[in-house]
Amino acid sequence: MKSTLTQTLEIPVSYTPDVLVVGGGFAGIAAALSAARMGKKTMLIEKSYYLGGLGTSGLVTIYLPICDGKGRQVSFGLAEELLRLSVEVELDGERGAEWLTGKPMTEKDPRYEVNFNPALFAISAEKALLAEGVDILYGVSLVSACTENGKITHAIVEGKSGRYAIGAKSYVDASGDADLAERAGAPTARFKHGNVVSAWYYYYDKSGYGLRMLGAVDLLPGMVPPEQLSKRRFSGLEDDDISAYMTLSHDKLFSTVLEKREKDETHIPVSIASIPQLRMTRRIVGECTFTLSDERKEFEDSVGLYPNWRERGPVYELPFRTLYSAQIKNLACAGRCISTDDEMWEISRVIPCCSVMGEAAGIAAALSDDFTALDVKEIQKVLRARGVKLHEKELPPLA
Ligand SMILES: Cc1cc2nc3c(=O)[nH]c(=O)nc-3n(C[C@H](O)[C@H](O)[C@H](O)COP(=O)(O)OP(=O)(O)OC[C@H]3O[C@@H](n4cnc5c(N)ncnc54)[C@H](O)[C@@H]3O)c2cc1C
Repeated sequence: MKSTLTQTLEIPVSYTPDVLVVGGGFAGIAAALSAARMGKKTMLIEKSYYLGGLGTSGLVTIYLPICDGKGRQVSFGLAEELLRLSVEVELDGERGAEWLTGKPMTEKDPRYEVNFNPALFAISAEKALLAEGVDILYGVSLVSACTENGKITHAIVEGKSGRYAIGAKSYVDASGDADLAERAGAPTARFKHGNVVSAWYYYYDKSGYGLRMLGAVDLLPGMVPPEQLSKRRFSGLEDDDISAYMTLSHDKLFSTVLEKREKDETHIPVSIASIPQLRMTRRIVGECTFTLSDERKEFEDSVGLYPNWRERGPVYELPFRTLYSAQIKNLACAGRCISTDDEMWEISRVIPCCSVMGEAAGIAAALSDDFTALDVKEIQKVLRARGVKLHEKELPPLA
């Protein structure tokens, strides 16, 4: 740090919703839908101008399985609803076993993942939120937070209208990077290993259009890792680091396109990521830190189930305590930034899990402004009424 500057600002309190959700990726969409369905005045702020986060602006348009790969559906509720929404328009409104209309993850593995269109999903999600009465503010970034007695009183945000405060009763941090948790002084941890560069892009050429997954790809066992674009690792948490990530990613994408064009002059990029394709950055340190060894463990405070996208079989019960820290009692995290160790982070960060967490965080935020005092049975009651299974023993037995 070169020097510091002290500035006193008078900031208007422009909105006072019941629940404020920061970030409009899959976790934030699920959290906002979930809270609004509890009849709460819900606001969602998103720094870009498009919902879906990495799933749309980041071109990660692959909804990984909601089943355990052994024939049992594991994730229900909004995890299933958002999956259906992601392909609804393309299926022309036909409802049913859409998740089975995806493509097999590998030839031998019958688990299905769904490829969705980012533009259609972003707009469908926006319509779904508006239909539930959620107020969406685009182009608005969280910049800091005011706290009192272990609770957030106001989120300080900035957008085209300038800087202002939003005073909600409870908050969901779905920023992917635990921005609100960190600004509010909740304990956070960084991903130790850093991120490798990805440069995924949609292209068009003689064969039609497609998604080119250049650089880091999420590997299933047995898959050959693609060539790395660079040895450098990125935290994704400092502006100069993120900018270096983006310029490197752009440079690799550009040279690949030029190479491709030597063989096929019709090859052109039609869409590039407008947010950095970073997987793990910062997370909250919650009341419980979830680990891979929690496979098949029964948690009394489970608020949903999710599978392991890499491996067939494991099922995880998500403890509510992974979503919050007692230091900031009215803040729940959802998505990429919940409390897990580095190994579990690789499993929990994917889209279906983010939807599971978002739904639970939204209900909690609608029910209480003190998660340490909230009886988890109240959240579970709502989840059950929505058809969500909370314990593995509620699933059909393995064949
Ligand atoms: C290269 C790559 C490949 C992947 N492959 C897959 C895959 O095949 N399938 C799969 O299911 N998952 C995959 N993932 C993981 C998955 O895409 C993400 O982990 C998941 O989409 C994260 O959702 P989220 O809602 O937690 O966060 P994000 O999608 O990161 O959403 C966070 C949102 O918050 C907004 N935001 C951030 N900070 C602020 C702020 N301060 N103020 C206001 N708004 C803010 C962002 O703009 C963004 O819209 C992949 C990820 C990467 C990077």
